[in-house]
Amino acid sequence: MLLKTLREHFYISLKEDYPETEIQSFFNLLSECFLKMKRVEVSLNLYAPISGKKTEKFENAITRLKDQEPIQYIIGSTEFYGLPFKVTESTLIPRPETEELVQWITDISNSKTENLSILDIGTGTGCIAICLAKNKPDATVYAVDISKKALTVARTNAKLNKVDIEFVELDILDWENGASNLKNIEFDIIVSNPPYVRALEKSQMSANVLRHEPGLALYVEDDDPLIFYKAIVELAQTHLKSNGQLYFEINQYLGSEMVQLLEDSDFKEIELKMDIFGNNRMVSGVKKF
Ligand code: GLN
Repeated sequence: MLLKTLREHFYISLKEDYPETEIQSFFNLLSECFLKMKRVEVSLNLYAPISGKKTEKFENAITRLKDQEPIQYIIGSTEFYGLPFKVTESTLIPRPETEELVQWITDISNSKTENLSILDIGTGTGCIAICLAKNKPDATVYAVDISKKALTVARTNAKLNKVDIEFVELDILDWENGASNLKNIEFDIIVSNPPYVRALEKSQMSANVLRHEPGLALYVEDDDPLIFYKAIVELAQTHLKSNGQLYFEINQYLGSEMVQLLEDSDFKEIELKMDIFGNNRMVSGVKKF
């Protein structure tokens, strides 16, 4: 098949499912991934023949896109904070809001001492831990996750981005029985983007998230939505240095509850911060004692 015909077929097949600009961007990403051709090369080579095997890859991508699968899972990668990350269905696709959290931590803690020790809880793809390690080459970075499969992806991403991170498989709700090699460490920074979406919010979520992203990384019970934050704040009592910093990505509807939680747990300089979409999305605090 000619590239031109393939492109037309791709557009026609998806036109009921996505706006044209999105189809264009899917085709560009898939051409880079399957044909190793950038957008301009596609335009210059419209009469190039495309093998049956490659056409089949596009065919398969069309089927997956029709099922609302995120393009990042189809190509198996994404970009976060300017770095490449492998993603699979065992990991959330890193969000722009989380880039803002990384930016916030980098901005504030840059003025701080060297040789920081940092713990990222619920690391997923490793995006927060890896970006912090990249931006703070002398920091010691630890990252934990409950999911073995996510940790495999995170380890691959650490290698891909040439940073050293100590990864530990751990259920944060069972810290006492799990993290033997982290138990004696006091951290300067603890950061987490834990699951925070309540079942009652599922109706606002799009099909691509609901159907394809890992529930384990997203959802909490309606009656205890701060379960992970409470466990982490508790852990910070013993494993965050005094004047150490705690950073969270949060549910936009639970900003005041989060501030309250930190106030009740001996944190000072508590800040609630909005993301670019104008939603309360991040909280930080400094440990008093
Ligand atoms: N921000 C993500 C979403 O809305 C949720 C991330 C999380 O639960 N930690 O899909």
